[in-house]
Amino acid sequence: MDASTPSKRAAAPDRLRALWPLIAGLIRPRRHLLAVGFVLMVVNRLSGLVLPASTKFLIDDIIGHQRHDLLGPLVLAVVLATAVQGATSFTLTQVLSKAAQRLIAELRRTVQAHIGRLPVSYYDANKSGAMVSRIMTDVEGVRNLLGTGLVEFLGGLLTAVFALGILLRISPLLTGVALAFVLAFSLVLRRSFRTVRPIFRTRGKITAEVTGRLTESLSGVRVVKGYHAEAREAAVFAGGVQRLLDNVLQSLTVIAGMSLSGTLFMGAVGAVVMYVGAREIFAGALTLGGFVTFTAFLAFLVAPIFQVVSIGTQLSEALAGLERTREVLRERPEEADPRRTVAISTLRGDVAFDRVRFAYEGGKEVLDEVSFRAAPGTVTALVGPSGAGKSTIIGLVAAFHAPTTGMVRVDGVDLATVQLGAYRTQLGVVLQETFLFDGTIRENVGFARPDASDAQILDACRIARVDEFAERCAQGYDTLVGERGVRLSGGQRQRVSIARALLADPRILILDEATSSLDSESEALIQDGLAHLMRGRTTFVIAHRLSTIRRAEQILVIEEGRIAERGTHEALLAARGRYFELYTRQHGLETSLFLDAGDGDSGVEREPSTAAKPPTDPGDTIRLIHD
Ligand code: ADP
Repeated sequence: MDASTPSKRAAAPDRLRALWPLIAGLIRPRRHLLAVGFVLMVVNRLSGLVLPASTKFLIDDIIGHQRHDLLGPLVLAVVLATAVQGATSFTLTQVLSKAAQRLIAELRRTVQAHIGRLPVSYYDANKSGAMVSRIMTDVEGVRNLLGTGLVEFLGGLLTAVFALGILLRISPLLTGVALAFVLAFSLVLRRSFRTVRPIFRTRGKITAEVTGRLTESLSGVRVVKGYHAEAREAAVFAGGVQRLLDNVLQSLTVIAGMSLSGTLFMGAVGAVVMYVGAREIFAGALTLGGFVTFTAFLAFLVAPIFQVVSIGTQLSEALAGLERTREVLRERPEEADPRRTVAISTLRGDVAFDRVRFAYEGGKEVLDEVSFRAAPGTVTALVGPSGAGKSTIIGLVAAFHAPTTGMVRVDGVDLATVQLGAYRTQLGVVLQETFLFDGTIRENVGFARPDASDAQILDACRIARVDEFAERCAQGYDTLVGERGVRLSGGQRQRVSIARALLADPRILILDEATSSLDSESEALIQDGLAHLMRGRTTFVIAHRLSTIRRAEQILVIEEGRIAERGTHEALLAARGRYFELYTRQHGLETSLFLDAGDGDSGVEREPSTAAKPPTDPGDTIRLIHD
């Protein structure tokens, strides 16, 4: 930990300055509440001083001068003051702690909503576990800003000022001695904080990293187990936990050091005050009551210094968390692009790529001068080897990314200038990794259109053949699908996601056909659903199935980010070029381009060989190509 490097020291006020707009933004709407809190606190602290202040009076006047008549009123005053102190303490905690929790809730909502509006590239660059940390943990720091922490600290300071006044009145000499110690101790604390602050900052980072990796390995449990990598994952996690432990231990050492110096300081002050105080009493410069009161008030002077220890660490943590929150909030949402001014109400679904080049952030170029046009209602099939750029092209159609140069046009409008909300509501996406969340079948389908009626949902389910399995479940459409839909089969998940897209009724449809093999019956049902889904929509499909490819108005053969060939199935075969090569290479083997209904390489459900000529039956949905 390079805690003491000058650059980090210098950074502290800058950090606070940078954070100030965020903090001020959070505090401003609550300034009245804070003002009330502050008044309550002043009353609280003043009433808390009544008991110690009455000691001198009790000893020197009531006991010293035998004033029996004043004893009752004094006790009553003390009781009343304590009641006020209790009541204000209670109200303070109620008001401020609850306000702080509300603020945390508000900030969580803000951060989550903001992250939701960030472009896909942000998600590519950040682990989901780390984003969870941003939303759930980092914002907790504000509790210490608005909650009792800061107010108590201010209260402590205020009490210290009162106490200092009283101490000076009782004995300037004793006060001077005590103050010298307090100042020396403050310097020690300042130093300690400089050491501990960067440790806290690192802790947040480590926690986010460890949580991130943990989330990944838990959600990828099948892969972890499949590769028997439990021990490796455990080792990675153990390493992370160790780093976290080292960090905590390091900070504990510093905190224990602070605590030690605190105790030593108290002892030293106690001893000196005892010595000087007793000599003052001998000399007649101080009364016994005055001395007792002095020691009581000394505690009020010293207490805030100790509060600095706890509040200061809390504030350090809070600031570190808020810094990360601020980083996220400063990321620019997709919609914030000032060029996005065109509101498309109803899409025709005319999509054109005009000399599109594209590179992922910090990566090499993956698309090179891609130009094509997809007329409304047509199917464009993208084929080609893996890594060629097919997903990148559909990502550009979905406006997940924007071209580096060139243009994607939708209905003749540059997609980079189109408002995303309206555009994406007319976009349907069915991906290989169908995204289902842990809810019912009905909820997963309805996800596409929260306002859809039950009849509309059931209709979509019928067309996508979800009814065929949903109605066989005991709970019907209210069957829970499990996290990511684990309780459904691959084919059932795909059908749910087709039903979802049907319900959305998009103008532009993006399909990433599953490469995984299904039994021929599921396959036929899915093909049926897909055929319905594509009808009348501009469809882009990363195609693996011959039936889909043959249905396409145009096939784009993508290779190394370029369109190597284009045309219809028949035309491309006749041209005997790259497509023909890819096509004939299928030759009864494990295939990545054209799949049959059965297992790619096991031959299950394969049609008998049809020699070099392609299958011609247009109703034939699923065939593997053989020579
Ligand atoms: P395909 O869909 O044809 O398999 P992709 O479009 O997924 O190909 O990938 C094209 C190229 O872009 C590949 O080299 C791949 O490594 C790269 N790529 C894909 N996604 C990203 C990403 N999010 N960040 C950086 N590079 C990426």
